[in-house]
Amino acid sequence: IVDAAAARRRPVAPPAGIAMPAIDRGARAADVLVVGAGFAGSVMAERLAAEGGKRVLVIDRRPHIAGNAFDHHDAAGVLIHRYGPHIFHTNAASVFEYLSRFTAWRPYEHRVLARVRGQEVPMPINRTTLNALYGLGLATDAEAAAYLASVAEPVSPVRTSEDVVVAGVGRDLYETFFRGYTRKQWGMDPSELDKSVAARVPARTDTDDRYFTDTFQAMPRDGYTRMFERILDHGRIAVETGVEYRDVMREGVFDHVVFTGAIDEFFDHRFGRLPYRSLEFEHVTLDQDRFQAVGTVNYPDEAVPYTRITEYKHLTGQRHPKTSLTYEHPRADGDPYYPIPRPENQALFKRYEALARARHDVSFVGRLATYRYYNMDQVVGQALATAKGLLARWGMAAPR
Ligand code: FAD
Ligand code: UDP
Repeated sequence: IVDAAAARRRPVAPPAGIAMPAIDRGARAADVLVVGAGFAGSVMAERLAAEGGKRVLVIDRRPHIAGNAFDHHDAAGVLIHRYGPHIFHTNAASVFEYLSRFTAWRPYEHRVLARVRGQEVPMPINRTTLNALYGLGLATDAEAAAYLASVAEPVSPVRTSEDVVVAGVGRDLYETFFRGYTRKQWGMDPSELDKSVAARVPARTDTDDRYFTDTFQAMPRDGYTRMFERILDHGRIAVETGVEYRDVMREGVFDHVVFTGAIDEFFDHRFGRLPYRSLEFEHVTLDQDRFQAVGTVNYPDEAVPYTRITEYKHLTGQRHPKTSLTYEHPRADGDPYYPIPRPENQALFKRYEALARARHDVSFVGRLATYRYYNMDQVVGQALATAKGLLARWGMAAPR
């Protein structure tokens, strides 16, 4: 359907190096093109369509929606996450309420054990971990805090992931739980990574063995993909998967683009490549009901090639005679999954961000486009805020 009104509007400039051909202009006409059907793109699309009355085309180069949160039933019929375990947790009531419009929830608190020195002990490090590992009898928070204070090493200033752990729990616990895991996961030593990375998993002095302490901890009852189907189920939203941004820009006419892919790719790597860390997911189904005691077991030992094993039935509550697991093998090459937080990468990102700021016809949203090590809820929060700002700019600020 060619929309003449849309074709008359001034379209978003195509990426560098792409001449706008005369053929088929407007074949994919919409007011807004959203690149990426993950949390960032889907939430933006829903807000701009539902609140702003915009006609939105959402595209993704992958053959499915939901981005990295994509889940599906494997050959055995077990619900698995194709891109590794995704556990929803947030302190933001607004984010939880927004997503609750599109899914019911299954309460779930994630627990992780670390396999170290022939034992499986709680991670993050807590009082139980200390007692099991060192044969201690720490009975109170105060005793555990005193123990950690006695082994912690003064570090000043605290800049790196090594610094933050050693300053908190000392060198032995650092080497046991963090050094090997981090070297595998990131392909570099914790001393080369920003402190914010290891600070995601702070030690505790109580016996709380939940991985997260957020107010809201739950899994979408019917899975992530079903939730995304509902987010995108709107009369003014069209979705095309298996489609490249550049190819759509050859044919489409749009007033605005929301880009949720890698920002350096958008700008043709003009200043060089931004480093992203990748993973290979080894999915395995076993002909047994249960494999491990908790959702995830971490393997900090550098000699073990993977970082962690996740058993999905813990997360989803599914009952099935078989069980499916994912082993995560860190990789330098492959799909970009993690921005790598370190000062020189941030400096390079800032150069791309300056280009992005000058593009009023494009909004950059999400983990890859803003080069931030964001969890799902943070991406949703960022998308809600970005959509609100855009709608205000377009004179459509009609809060619901
Ligand atoms: P994505 O989900 O990456 O979506 C971007 C989409 O854009 C992709 O589908 C991509 O195919 C598409 N795209 C990119 N470029 C183009 C292009 N040129 N043309 C067309 N399409 C394009 N968060 C949590 O809160 N809890 C967890 O437990 C958790 N576990 C995680 C485990 C792993 C292994 C990983 C990698 C991440 C995890 N996260 C977790 C983080 C979570 O995945 C992200 O916060 C979230 O998915 C980011 O959403 P997004 O929309 O920004 O990006
Ligand atoms: N980490 C570690 N050992 C662990 C768990 C985490 O060294 O057993 C470090 C590691 O650097 C990891 C970071 O803490 O990348 C953040 O862990 P998280 O579980 O939040 O990683 P994600 O789920 O985002 O991969």
